[in-house]
Amino acid sequence: TEPLLRVKDLVKHFPIKGGVFQRQVDKVHAVDGVSFDIAQGETLGVVGESGCGKSTTGRCILRLIEPTAGEVWFEGKNVTAMGKDELRSLARDMQIIFQDPYASLNPRMTVGTIIGEALTIHKLTKDANEYRDRIAELLTLVGLSPDHMKRYPHEFSGGQRQRIGIARALAVNPKIVVCDEPVSALDVSVQAQVINLLEDLQDKLQLTYMFIAHDLSVVEHFSDRVAVMYLGKVAEIAPSTELYTNPLHPYTEALLSAVPIPDPTVKRQRIMLQGDVPSPIRPPTGCRFHTRCPIAQLPLCSHEEPALEEKAPGHWAACHLR
Ligand code: SF4
Ligand code: MG
Repeated sequence: TEPLLRVKDLVKHFPIKGGVFQRQVDKVHAVDGVSFDIAQGETLGVVGESGCGKSTTGRCILRLIEPTAGEVWFEGKNVTAMGKDELRSLARDMQIIFQDPYASLNPRMTVGTIIGEALTIHKLTKDANEYRDRIAELLTLVGLSPDHMKRYPHEFSGGQRQRIGIARALAVNPKIVVCDEPVSALDVSVQAQVINLLEDLQDKLQLTYMFIAHDLSVVEHFSDRVAVMYLGKVAEIAPSTELYTNPLHPYTEALLSAVPIPDPTVKRQRIMLQGDVPSPIRPPTGCRFHTRCPIAQLPLCSHEEPALEEKAPGHWAACHLR
């Protein structure tokens, strides 16, 4: 069957301008040939350090930023080729929840107006009563009181604001939601509550998620499959239990080694990666991970780029040695 979402060879380069004439002098290779599918009802976790291109990928999928190359297909329609009108109706099917619930809600708008904006834009309610009822329903859905619609974002805690952001995204009955590190800015104590809410909503509303996180532990129990990104490329993608029990890419191994195991009898050797993530302006040649890879073989790894290959059924990795 056809996936709900298909991302094919997605590229996003940001130009860097300089000099008196502000000519392009360089570019940031934010996303450099990323491909994956997401099935209806599935959660794909996308994980990697900051600058790996995960957020940029999410934004390109929704066309919040324009991809440099590649294609995004949603329900058999080419999103990358859509004009303004088509994009507007696509916004009913694809929504995004942002990382920072403080920055993403307009402080001068009431919670009701924030949630109701999309109802107005897409003409989803026929009169003032229905409009108010729908906002009340959405607030209840995310575990807030309908009375909150008259209040302002600053009156709420971070976790509550993220619930408002979720209600806003759900107002249009989307099919797929890009969750861009929705809990990273929240206190650890509220992170699990928001994740549980997102899981409940997924079941209730048959949602499909692309769930972006910088930490493997956040997506572990929540994702059906996980994609690990490094410097604009997918290093590994696999069903999540497979990825956690049998990681193939040395970068995934290193990320996993930092995840605490609840069982104290199991010991995992912490793999410390050398150095920082290289600049995405001039990414390393060959395998982009070779400058930090504990098992890199030179010159092979510094000269030849490993292709993302299916090493076991459904388990893809980009490494010469695995
Ligand atoms: Fe390491 Fe080489 Fe594999 Fe890259 S291709 S992950 S450098 S072993
Ligand atoms: Mg699920």
